[in-house]
Amino acid sequence: MNSFRPIRPLIAGNWKMCASRAQLAELKGINEAAACTAAEVVVCPPFPLIHAARRMARGVAVGAQDCHHETEGAYTGSVSAIMLHEVGARYVIVGHSERRALGEGDALVKAKAAAALGAGLKPIVCVGESADDRAAGRAIGVISAQLEASVPAAMAPEKIVVAYEPIWAIGSGRTPTAGEIAEVHATIRRALLRCYGPAAAMIRILYGGSVTPDNARAICAIPGVDGLLVGRCSLTARDFVQVIEAAAACPAVLNAAAA
Ligand code: PEP
Repeated sequence: MNSFRPIRPLIAGNWKMCASRAQLAELKGINEAAACTAAEVVVCPPFPLIHAARRMARGVAVGAQDCHHETEGAYTGSVSAIMLHEVGARYVIVGHSERRALGEGDALVKAKAAAALGAGLKPIVCVGESADDRAAGRAIGVISAQLEASVPAAMAPEKIVVAYEPIWAIGSGRTPTAGEIAEVHATIRRALLRCYGPAAAMIRILYGGSVTPDNARAICAIPGVDGLLVGRCSLTARDFVQVIEAAAACPAVLNAAAA
């Protein structure tokens, strides 16, 4: 899967429930970094900050961290994909392990991804194995099954983004080896090709889990890595800018420069 694919890497920041209004000041530095990279940059703040973030972002897309799977209705406390699009979001994370841990299964993640596409949002569909799955040698099987059950059938595959986020790597300071990441990304690509045929070649597959300014460049250089989904180190421009700069090492950027 090292063959040339004319795609733009994606560096996405997941601010989780860790950002208040003051956090938006970080966008200034992030805007500047986005103007100097070949990658697309996305920040995903909490719902109440999406509109303000959209107004302050320059060359940076804004995403949400979740959406409801229905377009409207009596779902107290929920936000639809259409509402997110209206306030300026263009991406939405679905199936993050922190939401799967609350009971969201593959079928719901798939319905959310379909709702996102229907509303004009690009879903970032997260998959990843637990520490037990990895230790028991089940990671590849678990991720393949999760992926095939979580992506919507026959819908605008080029608008879908997949993020491989091993649950045990999120927020832990631990990451898989380069070989393990390459193996999972190749597995996900094969699963996507089974789901969508040749159009799946254009789907970006991100790595997420304890990405830092120190390891971002090496992770970006792993075959099959089309960008990063970053939690803690997306919260400050100081760290996130260095992660954005690391996208220059992505095979897609290097191959495009050589083409
Ligand atoms: C995440 O929550 O998606 C994530 C990757 O977090 P962190 O970078 O902090 O591990």
